[in-house]
Amino acid sequence: MTAPAAKPWIMGIAPYVPGRATGDDGRRVVKLSSNENPYGTPAAARDAHRAAADVLEVYPDAAATELRAALAAHYGIEAERIVYGTGSDEVLHLAAGAFAGPGDEIVYVRYGFSVYDIATRRVGATPVVAADRDYATDVAAILAAVTERTKVVFVANPNNPTGTYSTRDEIARLHAGLPGDVLLVLDQAYTEYLDPADDDGGLELARTQPNVLVTRTFSKIFGLAAARVGWGYGAPAIIDAMHRIRAPFAFGIAASRAAIAALDDDGFVAHSRDENRRLRAWFAGEIAALGNAGLRAVPSKANFVLVLFEGAPTAEAAYRALLAAGYATRWLPGQGLPHALRITVGSEADMRAVVAVLRAEAGAG
Ligand SMILES: *Cc1c(COP(=O)(O)O)cnc(C)c1O
Repeated sequence: MTAPAAKPWIMGIAPYVPGRATGDDGRRVVKLSSNENPYGTPAAARDAHRAAADVLEVYPDAAATELRAALAAHYGIEAERIVYGTGSDEVLHLAAGAFAGPGDEIVYVRYGFSVYDIATRRVGATPVVAADRDYATDVAAILAAVTERTKVVFVANPNNPTGTYSTRDEIARLHAGLPGDVLLVLDQAYTEYLDPADDDGGLELARTQPNVLVTRTFSKIFGLAAARVGWGYGAPAIIDAMHRIRAPFAFGIAASRAAIAALDDDGFVAHSRDENRRLRAWFAGEIAALGNAGLRAVPSKANFVLVLFEGAPTAEAAYRALLAAGYATRWLPGQGLPHALRITVGSEADMRAVVAVLRAEAGAG
């Protein structure tokens, strides 16, 4: 008997592994494994989502006119240069799909966001992985990896799973070093967690350059991961190509209205950013105190910290101990990080509990 054969490049994809929400016994645990917002979502977003229940029989606006208008007003950008998707994951897939195919190369850093590998292989393009610089994005290594086959470069800033950040100067240097026919995708899923002074200039590059796409999401600081709303901003020709291949109705009306409401709550965003900054600094300090047991926190500007286990206590043992204590974190052996845990910065009580488990693992009880 014969059967349909999937394309060989599809079978080369290692499926995405989502963050766990349950322990080995199936019980719910505190989820510090998906970089969600521990403070929820703005109340107005929840209300807007509920209120949309009266229009369930109607298709959403395929042009996402209201959402694009709200984004344009909020960020001072042009509505007609905005594309959107089912989460920014879809926007990343659209970028790869519109600009690369079999025979082309897509470059990203080692320890980059795992969706880049999936998006690259899905379209039959070849992944090219540039070396990191102590877990951070190395602009020189990316530029050295570019060939005449390169069509897209993916850079997350801050990066996931490392939390590392590239300065405005580094991003400008990266853009300046790329050939004009290479699309630079700046994935800013965590940009709202940065101090305003750390703006990497991505939106400005996307506004002025023909080969830069910025992607953003409502899943992280806005607390709307379940709504699946992401968007991208770039030159009209980039946006036009991506619109041609996107799903006509990326997300529902409730999701769109919740996103628009969330955008207006500056207080919620500021509170989330401030608490994250405070607890991340405290947590990094606690990890530094366990340095003689080989624990090390990679410097993070995002809402998570990558903790390295370079001594006797292993990341795997810590992962299991945390899970047994009711905390799911992200152990990433499949991404070349068997010696690391990515831990979302949760509430203060949760971070204190996590530190207690790590201290015990490190023999510092
Ligand atoms: C979480 C995340 C995204 C997007 O998630 P969506 O929920 O699909 O919008 C994109 N890039 C990075 C680096 C992320 O960590």
